[in-house]
Amino acid sequence: MNPADIVERTTTFVREHVLPHDDLHDGDIEAAGGDALRVELQGAAAEAGLLAPHGPVDCGGLGLGLVDRAPVFEAAGWSLFGPLALNIAAPDEGNVHLLDHVATASQRERFLAPLVQGRVRSAFAMTEPSPGAGSDPTMLSSSATRVDGGWLVSGRKWFITGADGAAFFIVMARTSGEVGTGGGATMFLVPAGAAGLELVRHIGTMDRSMLGGHCELLFTDVFVADDDVLGGVDQGFRYAQVRLGPARLTHVMRWTGAARRAHEVAVSHVAGREAFGTRLADLGMIQQLIADNEIDLAATRALLLEACRELDAGGRGAMSTSITKTFAAEALQRVADRAVQMCGGLGVSRDLPVAKIARELRPFRIYDGPSEVHRWSIARRAVRAISGRA
Ligand SMILES: Cc1cc2nc3c(=O)[nH]c(=O)nc-3n(C[C@H](O)[C@H](O)[C@H](O)COP(=O)(O)OP(=O)(O)OC[C@H]3O[C@@H](n4cnc5c(N)ncnc54)[C@H](O)[C@@H]3O)c2cc1C
Repeated sequence: MNPADIVERTTTFVREHVLPHDDLHDGDIEAAGGDALRVELQGAAAEAGLLAPHGPVDCGGLGLGLVDRAPVFEAAGWSLFGPLALNIAAPDEGNVHLLDHVATASQRERFLAPLVQGRVRSAFAMTEPSPGAGSDPTMLSSSATRVDGGWLVSGRKWFITGADGAAFFIVMARTSGEVGTGGGATMFLVPAGAAGLELVRHIGTMDRSMLGGHCELLFTDVFVADDDVLGGVDQGFRYAQVRLGPARLTHVMRWTGAARRAHEVAVSHVAGREAFGTRLADLGMIQQLIADNEIDLAATRALLLEACRELDAGGRGAMSTSITKTFAAEALQRVADRAVQMCGGLGVSRDLPVAKIARELRPFRIYDGPSEVHRWSIARRAVRAISGRA
């Protein structure tokens, strides 16, 4: 199947098989059936040859690069459950990328292949409650201590997406240096059910479409064998960057699909609704909302494509993925908010999908780096680059 066919078939698949579940349950994945629905939808996606378009071919994926992924992920994002159906939802999608780059042959077989094939789910555990790691990774406080044959991992993590029901966790813990001063972190593969691992609670959040919730976890002397260390000891911060760049872009791809749906629903609404002797769509201030949405969507896609090209060519894309993520998280939320406004009372109702899309988009300005942290880092790079030339 060529990439254009995958896009077309994804568009049809998502609208026919996935969207009805999403709209019936207002984008609430647990209400729609949770993991049982995931298994059903992923089975249908596999039959249609659409499962894991990003996954490595040797593990059962379609092996698309980032440029080719963009329109496929956008087509999947048309439904809030579309990414889950194709097995390209966060955090599994980012974990696939990370494992593909770092896992040993044995880890590839035990962790990556089942993940690509949708046989299991996973989670990525980095963020900690204060005073631990959040925007500032150097605050990483979870620690791993060397013991015979492996490591003992201890610490508290929270906002861990997909944790409830995950088969394994990729956990970041400090293996050298002091909190607040950098040092070394290491990634550990921890199976669910490991002794000393406790799911403390689901943190209630405004979004409802991500399977397995956003959870708080407690690790108390969890033993991890040397074979389950992911990559080199003390290399965790570097590997986190391997995961982060593409993960920022794939979030943008998925949310572009959702924002586009909100926009198209709103435009159809204003084209059909009459007031003051004319269609709403012919009123100047509504035209401005429509045009600004088109501009935000087009600019998001353009930035995305440029960053995807850079990563596909082997670049790090530190600046371009940061710029794209910051712009898109804000632009796509503006699109959804304008869509709500254009629909009037219906815009905040459950009769149309625009309110739920606005609700689900909001946290994107916080995860994968809050906008302020990206701006701070973009500005520092710019000052370094420009003052270095002077
Ligand atoms: C829905 C959701 C899902 C998530 N999923 C995961 C997951 O699966 N795994 C995981 O490990 N984590 C996850 N996270 C956590 C997420 O990565 C963190 O919330 C994020 O990194 C911010 O950290 P924090 O919450 O500790 O905020 P803090 O670090 O306390 O920052 C709070 C605010 O301070 C401001 N700020 C911080 N630094 C600066 C700066 N340098 N300049 C200016 N302002 C600044 C920003 O406005 C920021 O929003 C998730 C979060 C959410 C909301």
